[in-house]
Amino acid sequence: MNGSDPITEFLEKKKNDHCLRSIPGQEGKASLDLLSNDYLGLGARSKEFMGEFLERFGDAAPTSSASRLLQRDQKYHNMLEDKLGELYGRPALLFNSGYHTNTGVIQALGSLPDTLLVADKLIHASAIDGMRLSSGNSMRFRHNDTESLRRLLQRHASAHRLTIVAAESLYSMDGDIAPLRELVEIKHEFPNILLYLDEAHGFGVRGKKGLGLCEETGLIPEIDIIAGTLGKAAASAGAFVVANDKIRTFLINAARSFIFSTSLPPWQHAWTILMIEKILEMEASRLHLGRISAIFAKEIERLTGDKNPSSSQIVPYITGDAGRAISIAEQLRGYGYDVLPIRRPTVAAGGERIRFSLNAGIKEEEVGQLAKTLSDIVDREGKMQSK
Ligand code: PMP
Repeated sequence: MNGSDPITEFLEKKKNDHCLRSIPGQEGKASLDLLSNDYLGLGARSKEFMGEFLERFGDAAPTSSASRLLQRDQKYHNMLEDKLGELYGRPALLFNSGYHTNTGVIQALGSLPDTLLVADKLIHASAIDGMRLSSGNSMRFRHNDTESLRRLLQRHASAHRLTIVAAESLYSMDGDIAPLRELVEIKHEFPNILLYLDEAHGFGVRGKKGLGLCEETGLIPEIDIIAGTLGKAAASAGAFVVANDKIRTFLINAARSFIFSTSLPPWQHAWTILMIEKILEMEASRLHLGRISAIFAKEIERLTGDKNPSSSQIVPYITGDAGRAISIAEQLRGYGYDVLPIRRPTVAAGGERIRFSLNAGIKEEEVGQLAKTLSDIVDREGKMQSK
């Protein structure tokens, strides 16, 4: 291949647009974690729980060696599903990751005959990939705009036997939350709608027990399929859905990511069981996280003069261009704040940002100091530009 092959062109375009990604290592790492999704700080404490883990779950194997459908040792898979089922009051099914869940569930449902998929415009890439993999019709409604959803359903739902409405509880880039109550109301206005909710950023964080925004709003029984990921606040790996028995059996038979991938090892699920036990008792951490997040979002509003979209632990500072996001993130790291810029295609052009991902280990004073440092950096940049 010479210098003008399509791969080189792709990479050069990324570089010119300041959008070339690389895998970060330890170099340049700053001390205060504002990058990871370890929202309860449980991941940072994992060594603390290792003794208890080995004592209680030392028999858990480090590999499953097969897909769930060809596997004999199901003890910890079943135990975790039973635990989740008990918490949500409906049977659970494990997937290997949130990505597997969204691609598998949405592909399976969206490939049923006469079925329509309708998803929020800002839904995660994995759900969009699920829509691409499905063979049916799919549409998007304007972000968190229930009127836009209602209009789409009025126009198209009656021509289908089943409609799946998919949303996230808490959006990963703006930190804003879905209008869950209205989504449930709309579901009841039309026949044959299933509501699918991705609680990737809500699980562990929202609700008294940490079951997500669905718990906080008292709407668990109203949401047909709830998905949660276990690699974020739950400090483990994998993901799950809870749904009724019929849907669970359907997914076992139709979700390709479930059927055709080796399942996570028993010890991973045993670790998740331990982490869920911790999560259930961390209400004080959830309240603290809520408090510092609201304080920080207000500080960012003061700095920008604009309303911040966030109602959660994810608080964006939108720079509007990649170069500025890179420069501000680099300066923040110099002050000990571990952040990286978020660029296209993760966010749309003009939405480049620093995504501050707060966790319960951060103190209130640290949030104030962070806001002050950011404000000083932004001031300095402004002065340099006006020179
Ligand atoms: N859904 C959402 C909303 C996410 O943000 C993510 C990951 N960032 C996923 C699903 C995928 O989850 P996982 O990382 O477990 O594959």
